[in-house]
Amino acid sequence: MECRAAVLHRVGESLQVETIEIGELQRGDVLVRIRASGLCHTDLEVIQGSLAYPMPIVLGHEGAGVVEAVGDGVTAVKPGDHVVCSWNPHCGHCFYCERDQPILCEPFSRHQPQGHLLDGTSRLRVGGKELHHFSVVSSHAEYCVVPESGAIAVPREIPFDRACLIGCGVMTGVGAVTHIARVPVGASVAVFGAGAVGLNAIQGARLAGAERIVAVDVSDGKLELAREFGATDTVNAERDDPAAFVRSLTGGRGADYAIEAAGIVHSLQPTLDACWPGGMIVILGKTHVDAQVPLRWGSLMGERRIIRSSYGGARPRRDFPLLARQYLEGKLKLDELITCRLRLEEIDDGFAQMTEGGVVRAVVIMGD
Ligand SMILES: [Zn+2]
Ligand SMILES: [Zn+2]
Repeated sequence: MECRAAVLHRVGESLQVETIEIGELQRGDVLVRIRASGLCHTDLEVIQGSLAYPMPIVLGHEGAGVVEAVGDGVTAVKPGDHVVCSWNPHCGHCFYCERDQPILCEPFSRHQPQGHLLDGTSRLRVGGKELHHFSVVSSHAEYCVVPESGAIAVPREIPFDRACLIGCGVMTGVGAVTHIARVPVGASVAVFGAGAVGLNAIQGARLAGAERIVAVDVSDGKLELAREFGATDTVNAERDDPAAFVRSLTGGRGADYAIEAAGIVHSLQPTLDACWPGGMIVILGKTHVDAQVPLRWGSLMGERRIIRSSYGGARPRRDFPLLARQYLEGKLKLDELITCRLRLEEIDDGFAQMTEGGVVRAVVIMGD
């Protein structure tokens, strides 16, 4: 079949909305008609070249839509189901899956960077050439093919533009607090960066019952939004020393938990400094993989625990429906994350706005 998709042919170029071909579904495949697809910074990293992927490629890994068809052997979803795509489909039985670390799943780690599905091949073609999948999703298109473990049914009541956000930014931020840090009631949490992931770490901390939640950013607008998501205190890192501010609120020691969600080299040191000895730091942000990060040795002492998390400890089939229900019950904020809605043809505008920094989430809307 054919559909329209936003194709990146070369690093630094604009995306081309063109007709692509989708091959026959193979065993375990799920064809999803995409209805909403969020623009994430990881897409931008590929466009700008700080994250290398084979080209041409269809980006997008925060998608929601309706199951159109399934390949042989698929039992978890059926045509007509509303689904959110997971960008970490996993085999369920490799070394890491057996150790409850699906983010490191061996077939996923082997084939995902090659722009392939978990069987090592692509279902997509453009102009007679192989077209690559992005993180086994490729949702900036009218249709995508994902493995069964990447198609997660959610309640039909949640609108697609809200649902898609669960697939990356929400899961990563909320999960970092609830699954990775396991923040207890009454804790203090400092969150560096109030973009999509940081705001979700903040609301994760609120949902966990944290008493003091300090948001750090350089944008007063984002800090204002951070208060809506549950921050009890905010500090603009351009005007004040954020680590000193956090310590001043926490008896001079620092926060129990510090979350790095800004993804910039020079935010790591203040994140460490904002955490008290014995506390935990969770690193969610990303920068260029070859970037050198200078750190003050003393800040690595004091029994601090430093943890990296890419996807908030996601177990998508457990977590996505729960997050959707929390939204429907009014506990989880999603409406406020959407800065603008775009048509597929306007996707480059969305990335341009993201580069300028004024956007929390731009969402491409497809269909009626
Ligand atoms: Zn993402
Ligand atoms: Zn596996």
